[in-house]
Amino acid sequence: MTSSDLTSALASGSPADGADPRELVATACRVLAAAGHDDLVWGHASMRDPGGRGVWLKSAEWSLAEVTPERVHLVDSRGVVLEGVGARHSEYPIHTEVLAARPDAGGVVHTHPAHAVALAATGQELRPVSHAANFFVPPSVPRFTETADLVLTRELGRAVADTLGGNPAAFLVNHGIVTVGRTLPEATVAAVLLERACAQQILTHTAGGWPTWSGPEESADKRRNIYGDRALAAVWEHLVRQLG
Ligand SMILES: [Zn+2]
Repeated sequence: MTSSDLTSALASGSPADGADPRELVATACRVLAAAGHDDLVWGHASMRDPGGRGVWLKSAEWSLAEVTPERVHLVDSRGVVLEGVGARHSEYPIHTEVLAARPDAGGVVHTHPAHAVALAATGQELRPVSHAANFFVPPSVPRFTETADLVLTRELGRAVADTLGGNPAAFLVNHGIVTVGRTLPEATVAAVLLERACAQQILTHTAGGWPTWSGPEESADKRRNIYGDRALAAVWEHLVRQLG
C-alpha cells in the first residue's frame, strides 16, 4: 500500500481499495510503538474486516514494535481466529464490541501510554493546554471506571463501548486508553494525540504557575482549523515516514 492509498482511505473513511488489513494493522502498531505507546507485549490495534467477518487484530505475545503482517489475524465477535496464526489477545472484545457499536468507525486502538494512564489516574479532566487536546475536548473525555482489570468479556466490551459513546477516545482509568477513527490511521493519530495532550498537561502542572487553557469556543475553532481531514492524513503519513 502506498501512502497516497492511506491518504484516500483516511479521507474517504473507508479502507483503500486493495489495502491489505494485515499490513495496515502492522503499520499502525509500529507507529504507536514509535509514539511511546509500547508497554512490553501489551496494547493492540485493529481494523474492521472489509468483508464483515470481524476485526483484523494484532496477535498476542509481541510488542507493538514487533508487529508484522504475519502477526495480525482475523478474529470474529466470539473471539475465534478465522484467519492467520498466533495467540489471540484476551481483550479482543474491546475491538469487536466497539466496532459493533460504532458503524461509523473502521479502526480501534487500545494501549497503555504512560502519560494518559497517569493523568486519568489523578482524576483530572483533560484540558486543552496545547493544540493536541482540542482534538477531543470539549466534551470531556469519557472515563471507564467499571473495572481497571482486563476487558475479557463481551459484556465488558459493550460497557466500554457505552462509555465511549460517539467520542473519539475514552480513558480506561488505571488501565489505558481506547481510541476510534473512521479508519485505523485516524484511530492511530487520535491515540498519538491523546498521549501527547496528556504529557503536555502533566508538564504544564509540574511547571507551576497558573495554568490556562482554551475555552469551549476556542477549542471548537481550533479543532476545525487544525484537524481537518487533509491534516490528519498528513500526520499519519508523517508518522509512517518516521518509521523509516
Ligand atoms: Zn489493556
